[in-house]
Amino acid sequence: MEAISQKARENGLIPLGYAPAALAPRGEKSFREHLRAGIPAGVAYLGKNQEVRNDPSLILPNCSLIMSFALPYYQENPPGDPETGRISIYALGRDYHKTLRKKLDLIGNHLKTLVPGCSARAITDSAPFYEQFFAEMSGVAVRGRNNLVRVNHGGSWAFLGELLTDIPGDISESRPFSAGDPAPAPCPPGCRKCQTRCPGGAFTPQGFKIERCLSYLTIENPGEIPPEMIPAIGNRIYGCDECQLACPENRKLLPSPPVPDPDFKCRYSRELLSLSALLDLTEEDFLRIFAGSPVYRIGYQAFMRNVFAAAANAPGNPEILRKLEAHRDTAYPLTLREAIRTQSAKAAENGKA
Ligand code: SF4
Ligand code: SF4
Repeated sequence: MEAISQKARENGLIPLGYAPAALAPRGEKSFREHLRAGIPAGVAYLGKNQEVRNDPSLILPNCSLIMSFALPYYQENPPGDPETGRISIYALGRDYHKTLRKKLDLIGNHLKTLVPGCSARAITDSAPFYEQFFAEMSGVAVRGRNNLVRVNHGGSWAFLGELLTDIPGDISESRPFSAGDPAPAPCPPGCRKCQTRCPGGAFTPQGFKIERCLSYLTIENPGEIPPEMIPAIGNRIYGCDECQLACPENRKLLPSPPVPDPDFKCRYSRELLSLSALLDLTEEDFLRIFAGSPVYRIGYQAFMRNVFAAAANAPGNPEILRKLEAHRDTAYPLTLREAIRTQSAKAAENGKA
């Protein structure tokens, strides 16, 4: 395993550990609990392919072992001003799927030279899979109260990826790749910083309410942004990082300085993300500017919905109001109407002053 671990490091990955594929069903319980809590539109895919989630052999025949890796992406992303859109750190650069898959494939090929005849399949969110569960099994990842897994050398600012393999052997226990790697500290008793800082109020006494999570509302959500959630959106136009930024344990796990993969370097200037400029964006512009980025996945209409919500929160600005009013063919008329209503109220207020 040392050779695999070494190859992973050479390619910028954090080697976590490995676990027998047979452990997969243990994840079923928590997932069933999640299902019972109700899955809103937009993440309904989580409820599908349950049998594949529980049996990695349905992804790779005779799968015997799961190797887990992480790819760090953290970079500074100042909150910016209320007239400039803010994109979640993970989405500032290239879509991670291709970058991560390429690296995992390299390791898979290396494994095949070490164990001739074996198969290896890379997973990067591309198949139904309990990736957080297997990362935790390595012993060098821990799940926080913010529902995110923190890993050594990257915190929760790291994409998880796995190699499913059918290598023969008698590995019955999960292990970290590096025996000397201590497990990250669990959440200290009493700490709730991530939950109290959550702008959407998604952590409630009744449990996590995904429909109050700004990441969900601005990314997976196929519908309108509920008017009562618009103020919480602030200037976020894609995702939210607050429960990761608030976490003191997370910061301790970042190398200094952080070394994100070059593919994830921010592609966008402040001028480009000005809400006024974004309100002028055509679908053609959107496809060109966001090609190859995670933002591209939600499409022009949903992106503009997010821009409308952020524009509602900008200080009163006649130019923004005029540009909002010029949007007629939106798929999200309720969010647009609320943004126009809010900006009009601010204009009236400014007129009185
Ligand atoms: S991503 Fe943002 S809105 Fe969602 S739970 Fe975390 S802090 Fe709350
Ligand atoms: S902020 Fe505190 S409670 Fe939340 S994940 Fe971090 S350590 Fe855990």
